[in-house]
Amino acid sequence: MTILGATGSIGQSTIDVLKRAGRCRVEALTAMRNVEALAGAARDLNARLAVIGDPALYAALKEALAGTQTTAAAGPAAIIEAAARPADWVMAAIVGAGGLEATLAAVDRGATVALANKECLVCAGALFMERALHASATVLPVDSEHNAVFQSMSAGPREDVVRVSLTASGGPFRTWTKEAIQSASREQALKHPNWSMGAKVTVDSASLMNKGLELIEAHHLFSLRSDELDVVVHPQSVVHALVEFRDGSVIAQLGVPDMRTPIAQALAWPDRIESGVDRLDLARIGGLTFELPDLGRFPALALARAALEAGGGSANILNAANEVAVAAFLAGKLPFGGIPSLVERVLDRAAATGQISAAGNIAEVMAVDHNARLMAQALLPEIAAKAS
Ligand code: MG
Repeated sequence: MTILGATGSIGQSTIDVLKRAGRCRVEALTAMRNVEALAGAARDLNARLAVIGDPALYAALKEALAGTQTTAAAGPAAIIEAAARPADWVMAAIVGAGGLEATLAAVDRGATVALANKECLVCAGALFMERALHASATVLPVDSEHNAVFQSMSAGPREDVVRVSLTASGGPFRTWTKEAIQSASREQALKHPNWSMGAKVTVDSASLMNKGLELIEAHHLFSLRSDELDVVVHPQSVVHALVEFRDGSVIAQLGVPDMRTPIAQALAWPDRIESGVDRLDLARIGGLTFELPDLGRFPALALARAALEAGGGSANILNAANEVAVAAFLAGKLPFGGIPSLVERVLDRAAATGQISAAGNIAEVMAVDHNARLMAQALLPEIAAKAS
């Protein structure tokens, strides 16, 4: 096993599941900056290799691993090399578009890749799935909704699926007014009602951009058109996705909101193992409710849907602009309401300057991503001034 992004929320849950499974040999663990957590996990799991993304932290990692059998390495190239080393199963849990190349290195050697990095599919979905097919890699979705779709789809032939619904918790601002959402603080956005996740995805959940990115993810993973994909807001986060078949049967996957379930499913597939999660107690929960998302208050979802339908590089540009916007919001440089405004402006500007054609290779994907980030940075001050 190898874990790319071992110190984040998914990485830590994966380590927990691995320890319970107890029969795994860990090849490599990677992290961006958290030396202490990385070294701790490497010691704990007796990993062969530990890689820290920031080259300046190499000495600190080497020192933290003194007296262990774990080799230390550092830098972005070393992360890609870690992914290329022989491991049967790779957890791809690096956050953001930065995880693309490492995940592809695992895909290209035909590994089983548990995919928690949604940006791989959002930025380069067609290329990514093509490379997986070419290398006979197995891609198992770990994002809870897509894992639920994957599990539910096995109830019938793929050609008889007529609709797939992803559920959304609605985030912390589900009942807020548009005005209140516009000026929501960092602390308010980071308070997710059900899931405990990293900062980026928590902010995306609050804007519903996360659900938009997940629509694009589902499109690539399961070859679904936009009109076959729905979003339904479900505040309890118990039903993770629903798959409707031709005969009217709707198959859903339920469970307590804990990422260890989809991780364990992807780890053991096609078998089942203990994950450590609590048992679902529906009587105690009492009620499961559903409502339509409000695109007026959550324009990010509509922007993502439009990018999915526009195709080409639109989703890649949407994602890059969103990453810049979320980082600016977390740094206190952009009001919450400025996140979708900035994304929309970057998409408009890219379309107006003829920059949304499809990328033919990964270098082009990275170039589109890079240009969109520059554009977002350039437009940021203006959007921030307008939104505050
Ligand atoms: Mg999700």
